[in-house]
Amino acid sequence: MQTAKCPVCNSDIIIEEDAFEGDLAECANCGAELEIIFLHPLQIAIVESDLDEELAGRTEEEEV
Ligand SMILES: [Zn+2]
Repeated sequence: MQTAKCPVCNSDIIIEEDAFEGDLAECANCGAELEIIFLHPLQIAIVESDLDEELAGRTEEEEV
């Protein structure tokens, strides 16, 4: 197990041993959705596609 700093609130994010690059993690403190960019060295980034996915899903439903 290793930890990374949340880019939003700077608290520790716990990364599981079996996590992969591209996996998602959620900050327990601020709830930010984070993606694991690199494991060695550990590097994480904020996921910003949430709103886009919601809008895309809604548009698809309306078209059907
Ligand atoms: Zn946070």
